[in-house]
Amino acid sequence: MKLSMASSILMAASSHPEPRRANFEPFTGRPSAPIHAFMSDEIHTYGAPARFQLKLGEIDLKLESIPGVGKTTANKLREKGIEDLSELFLTFPRKYRKIYEYAPGYVLAEEQPEFVRCIGVIERVKAPAPRSRQPFEIYLQTRGITLKLLWFNLKGDWFAKKFSPGMWLDIEGAIEFEKGQGKMFHPNVEVVAENIPYETHIRVEPVYTVYDGIKESVIPKAIRASWPALQAAIVESLPEKIVRDLDLISVAEALEKVHVLKPTTWDALQPALDKSRERLVFEEFFGLQLTMAQQYVESRRAASAPILERRARAEEFLKSTGFDYTSDQTSAFEILRRELASRVPMRRMVQGDVGSGKTVVALFAAVIAAENGAQTAFMAPTDVLATQHYNRSKAWLDTLGVESALLTGSTGTSERSALLSRLAAGEIDVLFGTHALFSKDVVYAGNQAEPAPQAGLFEAIQTTREPATGLGLVIVDEQHKFGVEQRAELMAKGKDPHLLAMTATPIPRSLAHAYFGDLDLIIIREKPPGRVPIKTVMRTRDTAEKLFEYLRERIEEHGEQAYFVYPLVEASEGLAGRMNVVEGAEYLANGPLSGIPIGVLHGRMAAAEKDAVMQRFANGQLKVLCSTTVIEVGVDVGAATLMVIESPDLFGLSQLHQLRGRVGRSSARSFCVLMLDPSRTSEDAHERLQAFVENEDGFKLSEIDLIQRGPGLLLGARQAGVAEFRFGDLVRDAALLDQARAAARRLILGDARV
Ligand code: ADP
Ligand code: MG
Repeated sequence: MKLSMASSILMAASSHPEPRRANFEPFTGRPSAPIHAFMSDEIHTYGAPARFQLKLGEIDLKLESIPGVGKTTANKLREKGIEDLSELFLTFPRKYRKIYEYAPGYVLAEEQPEFVRCIGVIERVKAPAPRSRQPFEIYLQTRGITLKLLWFNLKGDWFAKKFSPGMWLDIEGAIEFEKGQGKMFHPNVEVVAENIPYETHIRVEPVYTVYDGIKESVIPKAIRASWPALQAAIVESLPEKIVRDLDLISVAEALEKVHVLKPTTWDALQPALDKSRERLVFEEFFGLQLTMAQQYVESRRAASAPILERRARAEEFLKSTGFDYTSDQTSAFEILRRELASRVPMRRMVQGDVGSGKTVVALFAAVIAAENGAQTAFMAPTDVLATQHYNRSKAWLDTLGVESALLTGSTGTSERSALLSRLAAGEIDVLFGTHALFSKDVVYAGNQAEPAPQAGLFEAIQTTREPATGLGLVIVDEQHKFGVEQRAELMAKGKDPHLLAMTATPIPRSLAHAYFGDLDLIIIREKPPGRVPIKTVMRTRDTAEKLFEYLRERIEEHGEQAYFVYPLVEASEGLAGRMNVVEGAEYLANGPLSGIPIGVLHGRMAAAEKDAVMQRFANGQLKVLCSTTVIEVGVDVGAATLMVIESPDLFGLSQLHQLRGRVGRSSARSFCVLMLDPSRTSEDAHERLQAFVENEDGFKLSEIDLIQRGPGLLLGARQAGVAEFRFGDLVRDAALLDQARAAARRLILGDARV
């Protein structure tokens, strides 16, 4: 159909973006917000896109300044969110309409257009009997066919009296064809003197959303009437060179095309709109990227990070692990060598899938810091994870003579104060911990570094140096679990420390560039050698019996361990029919897995309690761990090779991927079961889960997540609003985003660091 084709044209350019597809199916009787908050990772972003705004010179933006718009209309428009003139122009047509103007009758008969304007002569007038419900009809002969014009509910006969056979009419309106007969209901009509000469063509007309109480013609008229003033006021905000290099059109031209302020042909419309969209999306992305490039410079200019250039022990450490490093790891080491040895503080985000080997990269940096006399804060979001990092790293660090310690919320008071005084005295090189690391009383060794010289950007500064002291390196694991402010608080405890943020939730590049523009990326895509793929399957409850037998066998006969993951802690949380940890564990213990030691882990337990359970699972006393998503981050138990995820349709792909990453950590073949309830699994969810079964690459999955769920949900519920661009679409316009980023960085940083 012609109209629906037209309406698809501007879908993404509409000022009221089409709502994202529903992501989780609605749960009966439950508000969805708490679920989202519960389900999603919260990613804290560093820049939020400012809504696209026109850059304007001197102009009265009041709606009342538009010729023909009075107070009442202006008020109505404002009620609809069209606050001023610029908002009016950023309110884009809902669709475009093709109007056949003065086409010969045979063309109309053949093409059956939906809108026409034509000239014709009245053949016959049929007035209804007084007070009848019949319409008033005119039969109009127009270049070869006869059209029937109909008007219903005319009050009085003044209208009908205007017309008589032989008169010429200029009419315009929607047309319907029924058995070849063209009919027009309530067309606009004007009596003309004679059969004036006409030219046949197709006119393109924008169609705007019709709001209650605002006549359809108001917006188009207002736009036409105010265009000259606005056009004169529009300021070209992009540097000329960028406009030229990228072959962009001007903003004024873009708006002119969008609102069809100059006649265009139907065929030229689509390319014109594409070009307009390109310009507006680019500008939107560019504005954000410019801010980010500026922040990027701010955080590096005139900074004097400790120069960490001694590396003998760190290199020794790399050799001592016996690992065969992947090429991604090798390039990460190289970046660290280079950037830690510079006065310009490093700001890096390592994105690497679960199990890609990020920890060794972080430790390499920490050892470099230590041997240069700088302290490292190694922060993880949970007690479990911080403890695990500490336990794992301690043996390595000890042999290298690097002092480490652990500080969490559950560190006892006396232990804590002893630890803090050792830290302040510079006796601790690497402090692992949770949020406890940025509490006020945590003070690193004296930061008596001299004030920063006003340095040119990225110039190497040669100064005679004391050995570094104090906090010189901040490592944040699972960095998206922390707020920007929290990270900043920790960083403020040192003097321009280097930063290494890590995340195992790979987000698509476009998203990372849109929201984490002040960090440079290190991507670790390749997995360490020798990983056995995880077999992932979907099962339904009716086949569960067999599954449980199989699990029992692997647990009892091969000493393997299993995770059961549930979306809820307890039944009282609602979500009828969804399993919860507490009941799930009871069910397993009393039924299919009776006799096997089972533990329970969830976020409502006290930290010490959680640690104890985790510990017992890690050392194999517990064979089965029933848990919520608290096991999601970083937890590593080698013998755990089995995972059953209940209600997987409630989780996003990235989160499922995180969960699955808990198994497959050894050379044994691991197994992940998605336990579905078919009656609750929508088609969308099924599709998502199928993608999960087929893909083991976190980067790939996050791309699919981005496409299916949109950036808001991928970034986390809290960020949903933040993630909206007015015109840009991170999926569709990824290439434009890259261009905008490159252009912004070139402008701010020069060509060097793009
Ligand atoms: P993540 O990126 O999820 O933090 P880890 O750093 O925990 O991954 O690494 C997962 C496991 O792989 C760890 O046991 C780690 O010691 C090991 N590992 C890291 N790099 C290599 C490598 N190049 N070869 C073999 N094993 C490695
Ligand atoms: Mg890790």
